[in-house]
Amino acid sequence: MDKEDKRRYFVVGSVYLEVVTPLFQQKLDENYKSLNFRCLKDFLDRKAVIHILFHLRHRNAWCCTDKLNCTNHGALPLNHHQWKQLYAENPGPGIHNCFCKYTAKSIKPADLDLSLCGLILYNCCNLGQLDEEAGPYTPTE
Ligand SMILES: [Zn+2]
Ligand SMILES: [Zn+2]
Repeated sequence: MDKEDKRRYFVVGSVYLEVVTPLFQQKLDENYKSLNFRCLKDFLDRKAVIHILFHLRHRNAWCCTDKLNCTNHGALPLNHHQWKQLYAENPGPGIHNCFCKYTAKSIKPADLDLSLCGLILYNCCNLGQLDEEAGPYTPTE
């Protein structure tokens, strides 16, 4: 890749992020609002949502509740930083590897990057017909 190629690659990359990121953020915003959640925090605190996201970050964890929906991913799509951005650990003693230990933080869709928005949309929201035709979202890291 010569210098000009690199520049072009960079420009295309930033335009893509500038255009696509707000679209994903907006989509996430619309999604939880259409589900009657007032804010993203309320949506993230919903049991089904935190449970799905918990297992995207934690391997070999079997929760104390809602066990039927526990999953175990070989590769963890959610990185440590992303998980910390979304959830805070509740104070309390004991080793307890379970989603009930966490509470969502007060964040806005605008605080989330493309990959995190995509992960939440793809895993926790029912994407519209149009989006499904575009194929599944694969996070890149
Ligand atoms: Zn628990
Ligand atoms: Zn679980």
